[in-house]
Amino acid sequence: MFADLKGKVAVITGASKGIGRGIAARFGQEKMKVVVNFHHDSEQADTVVEEVKRAGGDAIAVRADVSKEDEIKRLIEVTIETFGCLDVLVNNAGIQTTCPSHELSLEDWHKVMDTNLTGAFVACREAIKFMLAHNIQGNIINVSSVHQKIPKPFHVHYASSKGGLRLLTETLALEYAPHGIRVNTIAPGAIATSMNEHILSDPEQNEVVRSLIPMNRVGEPKEIASSAAWLASEEANYVTGITLFVDGGMTLYPF
Ligand code: NAD
Repeated sequence: MFADLKGKVAVITGASKGIGRGIAARFGQEKMKVVVNFHHDSEQADTVVEEVKRAGGDAIAVRADVSKEDEIKRLIEVTIETFGCLDVLVNNAGIQTTCPSHELSLEDWHKVMDTNLTGAFVACREAIKFMLAHNIQGNIINVSSVHQKIPKPFHVHYASSKGGLRLLTETLALEYAPHGIRVNTIAPGAIATSMNEHILSDPEQNEVVRSLIPMNRVGEPKEIASSAAWLASEEANYVTGITLFVDGGMTLYPF
């Protein structure tokens, strides 16, 4: 636990399930005030709100499609209206589809880019505006992927969005370090969530995935959440612009 996180206000995008949910639960244990952003699944988001509250934090659920600029602006506004501040932004919402690159429509390219990269940029911009105006030594965590580094055939839009997220992080980290605003990336490896359930539930494919991981197992959302808590805390006060690979060693293999 990180004592300084108590009472801090965090927005987590795509927090109704998976990694986002894991981060929300951990922030609840840290007694933080959490805005649980969701897109469609309001019931699941309400469950996460209850989980955060049971753990000792406070929370609200706010619907917003992160691929829409006006909805992100509203998400940040509601956070500030409700909790009076914004200390931590976690850009976690993400989508992934599979398609040979030569068949990928521009529409599908934009859908992934708008959600995974443009949405993160807009949320960063709005959060930073508030942090600068109120002299908040804020904290931004972008959830990227090992595929910001490892190319992923049939996922050119996804890999490009995550590569972009890395440079978004590094550029903002450099630009706002003088203001005490830290910006970092967490790059998960294979984590057991609905995003890759179809692969992990197939024993053969599961075996293939594990063979790519030196630790020979997939990770859990709580293992990403503990890194997010550390990065958000004062313990990481001198850390900005990094990518923290939480991947069981996956990126150590030469691909
Ligand atoms: P998930 O599908 O379980 O959760 C994704 C969340 O994003 C969901 O809550 C979904 O509703 C939300 N979301 C999607 N589009 C949205 C939109 N337009 N507006 C608001 N919310 C939206 O997947 P996950 O595995 O928990 O993924 C979380 C993040 O971690 C993603 O950015 C993903 O790329 C990244 N990641 C996951 C893995 C993995 O193995 N699971 C590996 C590397 C990176």
